[in-house]
Amino acid sequence: MGSVTAAGEAVARIAYLASDVVLSVQPALSIDSEFSAHLHALTAQKLPGIVAKTGAEVQPLRTNVDPLLSAFQPLQSGKLVSVTTSSSILLSSVPHLYKLAQYPIVLHVSLHPTDYPDYSEITSIRQSAFTFLQSETLQEAQDIALSAHALAIKSGKGVIHFFDISNSANDNAIRIEDRELVRNALDVDAARSLPLLGFGASSLYVDGGRRADITESNLPIVHTHRGQNHVPKATTEKSTPKTGSRDASSVGSSVRDSSADSRPSMSSMTSVDSTTTRLVSSEDIINFLTGIWSQIQSATGRIYLPFEYSGPANAESALFIFGSTGLFVDEIQAPGSSAEFASVGIITARLYRPWLGTKLIESIPPTIRRIAVLEQIRRKTTKWGPVLLDLLSTLRTGSSAAGVPLIVGHQLGYLEPATARQALRGIFQNLNSPSPVQNLEVGIAGGRKQTAREFQLQQPNAENAYMKILDQVFGQRLHVANRQDDADAGVSATIAANPEFGFGSLLARMDHRKRFIGEVQKAAKGQDFVTDVPQRWLSNWALNAEDTTKANSMAQEVIARLATDGSRLASQLLSSKGLFFKESQWLIGSDAWAYDLGSSGVHHVIASGANVNMLIIDSQPYSERAAADAARRKKDIGLYAMNFGNAYVASVAVYSSYIQVLEAMIEADAFDGPSVVVAYLPYNKEDDSALTVLQETKKAVDLGYWPLYRWNPGNDEKEEPSFQLDSERIKQELEEFLRRDNHLSQLMRRSPEFSANLSGSYGSEVRALQKRKAKDAYNAMLEGLYGAPMTVLFASDNGNAESLARRLGNRGRARGLKTLVMAMDDYPVEDLAGEENVVLITSTAGQGEFPQNGLAFWNAIKDTADLDLSPIRFAVFALGDSHYWPRKEDKIYYNKPGKDLDSRVAFLGGKRLTDVGFGDDQDPDGYQTGYGEWEPKLWQALGVDKVEGLPEEQPPITNEDIKLQSNYLRGTIAEGLADTTTGAIAAPDQQLTKFHGTYMQDDRDLRDERKAQGLEPAYSFMIRCRLPGGVATPSQWMQMDAISSSCGNETMKLTTRQTFQFHGVVKGKLRPAMRAINKALMTTIAACGDVNRNVMCSSMPEKSAYHRDVHQVSAKISEHLLPSTTAYHEIWLKDEDDKKTQIAGDAIVDHEPLYGPTYLPRKFKITIAIPPHNDTDVYAHDVGLIAIRGANGRLEGFNVLAGGGMGVTHNNKKTYPRTGSMLGYASADKIHYVCEKIMVVQRDHGDRKNRKHARLKYTMDDMGVDVFRGKVEDLLGYKFEEPRHFEFKSNIDTFGWQKDETGQNHFTFFIENGRIEDTAEFPMRTGLREIAKVHKGEFRLTGNQHLILSNVRDDELENIKDMMKQYKLDNVQFSGLRLSSSACVAFPTCGLAMAESERYLPELITKLEGCLEETGLKQDSIVMRMTGCPNGCARPWLAEVAFVGKAYGAYNMYLGGGYHGQRLNKLYRSSIQEDEILDIMKPLLKRYAQERKEGERFGDFTIRIGMIKPTTEGKTFHDDVAEEESATLLSSPALQTPYPSTEPKTAAARARVVERMDPEDRDADDTVRELIAGALAEVRAKHAGAWCLRRSLSTVQPARRSGKRKMGLGPGAGTTEPSIRVCAGISGPLEPLDLSSESTLAASALASRLIRNPHPTATQLRLPSSPHPYTIPPHSAFYLSIITPQSAAGFSAAASALHPTSSSTAGPGQFDFILLDPPWANRSVRRSRSYQTSEAEETDPLDALQGMLGRHIPRHGLVGCWVTNKAASKRQALEAFRAWDVGLVEQWVWVKTTVKGEPVTAVDGIWRKPYEMLLLGRRRGREEDGGEVGEARDRGGVVRRVILGVPDLHSRKPCLKELVAPMMEDRGMYRGLEIFARNLTTGYCAWGDEVLRFNWGGHWSRVDVADVGSASLHTPESG
Ligand code: SF4
Repeated sequence: MGSVTAAGEAVARIAYLASDVVLSVQPALSIDSEFSAHLHALTAQKLPGIVAKTGAEVQPLRTNVDPLLSAFQPLQSGKLVSVTTSSSILLSSVPHLYKLAQYPIVLHVSLHPTDYPDYSEITSIRQSAFTFLQSETLQEAQDIALSAHALAIKSGKGVIHFFDISNSANDNAIRIEDRELVRNALDVDAARSLPLLGFGASSLYVDGGRRADITESNLPIVHTHRGQNHVPKATTEKSTPKTGSRDASSVGSSVRDSSADSRPSMSSMTSVDSTTTRLVSSEDIINFLTGIWSQIQSATGRIYLPFEYSGPANAESALFIFGSTGLFVDEIQAPGSSAEFASVGIITARLYRPWLGTKLIESIPPTIRRIAVLEQIRRKTTKWGPVLLDLLSTLRTGSSAAGVPLIVGHQLGYLEPATARQALRGIFQNLNSPSPVQNLEVGIAGGRKQTAREFQLQQPNAENAYMKILDQVFGQRLHVANRQDDADAGVSATIAANPEFGFGSLLARMDHRKRFIGEVQKAAKGQDFVTDVPQRWLSNWALNAEDTTKANSMAQEVIARLATDGSRLASQLLSSKGLFFKESQWLIGSDAWAYDLGSSGVHHVIASGANVNMLIIDSQPYSERAAADAARRKKDIGLYAMNFGNAYVASVAVYSSYIQVLEAMIEADAFDGPSVVVAYLPYNKEDDSALTVLQETKKAVDLGYWPLYRWNPGNDEKEEPSFQLDSERIKQELEEFLRRDNHLSQLMRRSPEFSANLSGSYGSEVRALQKRKAKDAYNAMLEGLYGAPMTVLFASDNGNAESLARRLGNRGRARGLKTLVMAMDDYPVEDLAGEENVVLITSTAGQGEFPQNGLAFWNAIKDTADLDLSPIRFAVFALGDSHYWPRKEDKIYYNKPGKDLDSRVAFLGGKRLTDVGFGDDQDPDGYQTGYGEWEPKLWQALGVDKVEGLPEEQPPITNEDIKLQSNYLRGTIAEGLADTTTGAIAAPDQQLTKFHGTYMQDDRDLRDERKAQGLEPAYSFMIRCRLPGGVATPSQWMQMDAISSSCGNETMKLTTRQTFQFHGVVKGKLRPAMRAINKALMTTIAACGDVNRNVMCSSMPEKSAYHRDVHQVSAKISEHLLPSTTAYHEIWLKDEDDKKTQIAGDAIVDHEPLYGPTYLPRKFKITIAIPPHNDTDVYAHDVGLIAIRGANGRLEGFNVLAGGGMGVTHNNKKTYPRTGSMLGYASADKIHYVCEKIMVVQRDHGDRKNRKHARLKYTMDDMGVDVFRGKVEDLLGYKFEEPRHFEFKSNIDTFGWQKDETGQNHFTFFIENGRIEDTAEFPMRTGLREIAKVHKGEFRLTGNQHLILSNVRDDELENIKDMMKQYKLDNVQFSGLRLSSSACVAFPTCGLAMAESERYLPELITKLEGCLEETGLKQDSIVMRMTGCPNGCARPWLAEVAFVGKAYGAYNMYLGGGYHGQRLNKLYRSSIQEDEILDIMKPLLKRYAQERKEGERFGDFTIRIGMIKPTTEGKTFHDDVAEEESATLLSSPALQTPYPSTEPKTAAARARVVERMDPEDRDADDTVRELIAGALAEVRAKHAGAWCLRRSLSTVQPARRSGKRKMGLGPGAGTTEPSIRVCAGISGPLEPLDLSSESTLAASALASRLIRNPHPTATQLRLPSSPHPYTIPPHSAFYLSIITPQSAAGFSAAASALHPTSSSTAGPGQFDFILLDPPWANRSVRRSRSYQTSEAEETDPLDALQGMLGRHIPRHGLVGCWVTNKAASKRQALEAFRAWDVGLVEQWVWVKTTVKGEPVTAVDGIWRKPYEMLLLGRRRGREEDGGEVGEARDRGGVVRRVILGVPDLHSRKPCLKELVAPMMEDRGMYRGLEIFARNLTTGYCAWGDEVLRFNWGGHWSRVDVADVGSASLHTPESG
């Protein structure tokens, strides 16, 4: 039984058990409350609740979002709700409290500030009709929390349980609550039988609520009524039965506080028959409580009363404390104080409201004469404290005057523990004095200073973004009226932050200025100045005082004139000089204001019409739940304000459009009237990363949940549209508003591209209908056909499965079948059972996952239990890559979706037409190989294999066909652009637009979301410019910048090939963008596609004249190789009036002299590098030109490289990166021809059949470099010259300022990953734009995605530097690693991305920078690159270290590239995740720092130390890769020679021993000896080398095993195994716990429950105590417990949660294979105590299992049991087999050998034998009953095998997973259970108290620790 140490925990546990919903109020989502961490832990454990079966739903809420509002919705739907909170929310929740008091809600309130709580938070709400209970000690907190819940359920009314947590801070731990007691006290059944309290979608602003009534039989009945539709009838006093059981005279009728009345408080209203029911009274409350408390008493012995007195029965004085009691109790009860305070008692109120006077009187001993009332009230608003009044009213009037004790009130301030005694003395002195002073203050009034600032809220980090913009835009003019941290406000932070407060202060400020203007006007007219200058200025200013621009521009001047005047009037005016400026006045608020617009002050501001600006930050992320919860849904402040009509309204989101925020703020400021800017900033926790906020924002904006718009009512007058939509989609409410106000049609006229989006607006549920319609249409079409139906359903990621499905459909149709082909997700699953023949074709996504368009289908059939597919016949074909995941344990992912589908459909009753077919990318023809075998079997099964006269099939359309048929790249692009019904263009056009420089993409972050909404993907286009050499003029820069705003997503990307790229251009904006680019004298033609693309050139800032020479050549080559088609002009640039349709007229047919109609086989890239810089990676391109400088310092010619290229396909060894081969030297004037001829050879010889083999690099390797060179030379008509000498030094940029040889200046900016954008912190884009406006030189884009500001003259330098500083652009102080890094775009836009790149690399580098700092490598340049896929856009294969995306979050790691791009790197690790990357990189960097040689580069170093082999050329890229397995199991040293003999020395001694042996042992030995001898001979004949593989040695010391409760063994050097505590008992049926990809759990949370890794990948489980995580293999599960009959029952119940996924024989909770490794009670086990099993180790370890295991073995299930070489253990095992109806079928002997293959001891030894046995049995089917069991059968047909192997760590047996697979019906997919397991196995469940042992990270190594000998586990079969 666990224990509880804090009141917060005790209360949280009770709240969790006793509620359906717990609202956990926290100061901030990232700051825990006293309760929240415990609540989360309970949720994580999935602890079952008592009220809610699966445990309460815990909803975290921030204190400042009006948290109690969230209680109504669940309460109204009949749920039991509790709230855990600090007292700080109570006062602001008063309006809710009155309503909530009528519901059975419980508020657990921890009083704050914690070291001196303010009890006035409780007294202030004492009349809210809640019942108030107080607890003091830890135990009381538990009991009273329970009482509160029980009372709320019984009474149907709200209960507040409050306590001061510091009172119990030092209490001893208590036991966790007794579940039985909680269950009994709560009486949940009664609560559930109450009528459901649903109101439907009730509004909170209507008088909802309910009243608790009671029947005379004392059963509470809760009636609900709504004020509106149910008018309660009045009843007379007579009809309300009186309880009248107490003396009414004890209650003062004049008491103001009516709820303090001890009479039963009764309403005169009731809604039901008054003769049977009445409202719940105070009397009832006490009756209920008494009942609850007596239940607690009888269960625990603890007594609770409404008022509690402690002290001597004859005491004369007492303290009545309403405050923190702890100090006084300690003091009075301290041993030393007994004499001093001997006759003193303490009274406290357990039940504070209702206040029951009689109970108080009963509790006070009659001897008491004086009572000191101590009230810990900070905010006192009346002379007498409320508790003093309560006491006075009860005691003064309640007893006869003579007996009334003297009552003296005291104010209890903050007390240090050391002063408690002194304070007590003071109190008693006063109390006992003849005339005691009332209201005496004790301790420090108001508490310690610092307590007031407890939980001071900070502006959440993210929200600072908006504050910064305000500061930036308005500078000194900015005045925020309600800053949370405003020290001058003189009021509390909460009040200062309130809009009403801010508004008031603003009005006062405006008024003040108005008066000031009046004064100025007067002064301007008067004669009181010394000179007449001020008058003129003042009158001029006064005229313009309300005009922001004018007033502010004059203000400085006016002030200056006044300052020189010197008159009194002048200095008087100057004393308010700030008012000469017109401020930009702002109120800043949170979305909490939106919940109640009326009372929050927002309404007042808008209604006032005053010129005030409000910025309201909404931080709620979009979620469907939030959108659906109508009660919680906030008012849309924007809509509210627009409906008002007089306000400027803008809806903005800084992470979506920074510019729009700026515009909105400026417009709001300029608007004369109220302005509301609602700003979106979604976060789940205040410290969320910017990336999360960005993603959330994007989602919300793109879905229309958060539309961006601006509404300026003032525009009407200017005849401009008042509504401006700045995002793509709007939500329904806004749409309605616009429609009503006739703005929608206006908007649609202006922006027709929105119409499609608007009509398919957010929230429409069209998906289901679409599905049905599509299928019905197909059916109608099929009606006319004959033949059997065949439904082909596909799930396809990259189109292969889809095209295969379509082809199959066509072929089926040709064979006369009625075929229907659909994506799985488009097919209504419920129709499946009605089909006849179903063919399922699926590819494999990610790590064995379903492709996106089949996922929903799979989820549906996977989860359904009632789909009967017995009528259908089916076949499955799966596509995958058997080498995609190189690790052995990951092989199960190969074609997993297909295998899963096959077994699931069969499980649901479907009959196989044929076996599942597998297509493997590794086969010679890829998946076609497997498909070719499978398809004929399908036709055969369908009986259509012999059909004759099949039509000839059209070959599939290839890219070559598309090019050929496109009419020189026209296709149907123009038509596609005109189609506004979709954001996409046709598939062939998607290929063609690439030639025009644009790709279609879709936002992958949004795919799922949009699919769920029934929307097409969020399509947009990427546009890439053509910019030879990357040189742009400032005006081009500005134009590019403008395009990214007007057409794109406000950002630009500088690419790795020196050009501009825009993302997020929607189709409608594609043409305008292209036109704008061409207007800037740039083009996009041939920026992508199978043509020569942008020509690159080194940027060379230090030699400008030379650079100019070379750059001109790049421009010339680019021009020379441009395609000639006029389609580009025609499609993108034609006139607005559509007249000039073709530049050269319709009659002219295009001609491509260089390319021909099919252009090139693949893309073609040319680059120029100028030594010593290889910043363009000259080796990585099809043509690489190395500039050679002549003696005159000018360009002379080029060394020509050809055949470089980067793109690769993972695991396809036929693809590889390649560095260019040297062809020779050519002079500069001929070089464009040389490029042309190389291109022409590639055009004519490149592979046009296989695009994966079409690049020049393959042509070159296929042809040989010399042949290729010869062909080029033939075309040129001359030979290349010998290459000239050159030397490269680096391939990175030199940052900062440099001067060139002509004296011009150049600055290289660090642009992280080439992304030009503004953020709140770094206005980079704005800065560059501003600089472009004044810059007279040029911009150079570098091949590393950075930017050079070139040719700045000395006289311009100062200004440029100032601007750079202003925009923070001058910072190049980054780590060498960061400066040398580069990443491609990848997610979300790149369609090929498998993992993040641009968004992730900066984060990864940040995580490494600490290590760089430590090792002194901060300044060192290490080239690190990352790409999201192996297409390799950032040229990763040339980096010293590279990461290439493999799957989401997983990367292949490459090492050993050359520092200046001259050598390819090589694969080091596959599919590793961040923690592994860091685990490798950090020690490696450390090693590099320590061991590198002078000047040695990182890539070279990794080769020298042998981590990686160098890649000498592309073709060897895949050779010699480092180990593919990413982790090695550590072993013990392999035994080299047999153990020394311990056998009896003489024959006589031996005979004596044999004599005493078990005869069975003797017999068995002979048989086994023969068997072993045969097996050894057989292996020796075939195998000569060592008998085991190389081993990595373990230094792990097993954990100390203290007593019976821990696992492991003794201490020692090296790593020590952690121990996990395992309790013998079970703690109740715990729900199975599913691990997430990384979980941290307390060891105690692991025991006695089923814990699963449901994922297809291994997950990491961490214990707080262990440095290494436990790796939990995919699809494995474990149950950690000692094996006893009790735990067996627990396991049995838990195992039923395991449903078969694939096996066809096992039912729920059953296993195809069960393996036992019992700790047989022999001497060795007893001696080592290595495995703890049952409490009584001497007995049969299988005892606990005999009765239960049978039900887990299916018919024909296989059971294995390890036994020792003693017959006794075998007998016990066979007995157990018999009990499970299992017959022995095989017996394996595991012989342990040395490295050389000798048995470790003599085979015929009698003391010690070198083997153990495995018995394998099968459960018999019913029809086989009666067959022989056990030994009889054993002697008959039992198969015997031998396993030979070198033993490993003690107790580690060979893994049997693969060895038994051949015995399973489905060898790959069977389900196993291992009992007494010591490790987990993929796909298995394990049970025992050491199940995690060898999964602990300490037993595994990522790198070799040591080599020991050699070893290999041979498992030959024998016999
Ligand atoms: S490397 Fe791959 S993921 Fe990255 S941008 Fe290129 S194609 Fe996309």
